[in-house]
Amino acid sequence: MLTVGLTGGIGAGKSTVVRLLAEHGAVVIDADVVAREVVAPGTSGLAAVVAEFGPAVTRPDGALDRERLGSVVFADPERLAALNAIVHPLVAERSALLQAEAAPDAIVVHDVPLLTENALGDRYDLVVVVDAPPALQLDRLVRQRGMREEDARARMAAQADREQRLAIADLVVENDGTPEELRPRVDALWGRLTERAGRAPR
Ligand code: ADP
Repeated sequence: MLTVGLTGGIGAGKSTVVRLLAEHGAVVIDADVVAREVVAPGTSGLAAVVAEFGPAVTRPDGALDRERLGSVVFADPERLAALNAIVHPLVAERSALLQAEAAPDAIVVHDVPLLTENALGDRYDLVVVVDAPPALQLDRLVRQRGMREEDARARMAAQADREQRLAIADLVVENDGTPEELRPRVDALWGRLTERAGRAPR
């Protein structure tokens, strides 16, 4: 098994690269999905969050009110740290479980938006960074995702910067061209990954 931590700044094209790797046969574990699962209704994770933040962070149906919780923690680094102390270990545990279910020769790609920010690189055999010039990230967020420019800028500014991400990369996928130009670069990345995994490319 080869484990890969894949990250990139918002709008760099991380989700697009993950989708192409999945087409090649990568087993994808999405940290955002896992982070939602561990606080789903009925979980011990949700109970722990409610014990810490109070019942006001749940909706009438008992599910976590993410907006409410978000407005609490994003204004206060200490509260964010308290939330992370509950959620991060649960995400790590569930991700490890999902990874253990993959075939012994699998290439497991962990899609982790905040890998750099949370210094998680050591958990994986390889760190892959999807990179794009910040001006292009901004352009995609505004034009393709319909974000307001100031919101897109704020989201980008809240993340690690390009240099910090590239500093922890073992492999980089440049997504600075068209989607057609991206595809062969991901094909080449897959070739490198299969090499590292010690199996024949397909
Ligand atoms: P991320 O997951 O890094 O935030 P996405 O893969 O969702 O980024 O890409 C952001 C947006 O830009 C999406 O709408 C996607 O379709 C588009 N996109 C990705 N790569 C390119 C590219 N090379 N050229 C043009 N648009 C792209």
